[in-house]
Amino acid sequence: MTQEGFCYAFDPSACASCGGNCCTGESGNIFVSVTEIKAIATLLEMEESLFRRTFLRKEGYRYSLLEKVVKGSYDCVFFDRTANGCSIYHARPLQCRTFPFWDYFRHRVTELKHECPGIVG
Ligand code: SF4
Ligand code: SF4
Repeated sequence: MTQEGFCYAFDPSACASCGGNCCTGESGNIFVSVTEIKAIATLLEMEESLFRRTFLRKEGYRYSLLEKVVKGSYDCVFFDRTANGCSIYHARPLQCRTFPFWDYFRHRVTELKHECPGIVG
């Protein structure tokens, strides 16, 4: 898988044995839009207000999904270690859908390769 403007490719078959490096590890923000908040709450069949109180934190003027600390790793609250995947996959935010083709990594390929074993090229 390639994307115009990026010098690397991505092989999604690497995800099966990766252990979710992009959903775990160092603490970070997983930003969600208002539309995405509604979509995830709907997927979980939760009232949006309860969903916000349970799973979100405010970061400046935006919202991020919470993390949970598992064996020293900051896992996204929706990462399922047993299933080795995202428990809200069909409603995951754009930030997750667009990984690893982020502007941040455009010129940081070595750093990206360290995180994601699916990077080729
Ligand atoms: S870090 Fe890369 S290989 Fe691992 S789960 Fe994320 S996208 Fe897949
Ligand atoms: S929402 Fe899903 S894909 Fe995104 S960081 Fe959390 S577990 Fe990973």
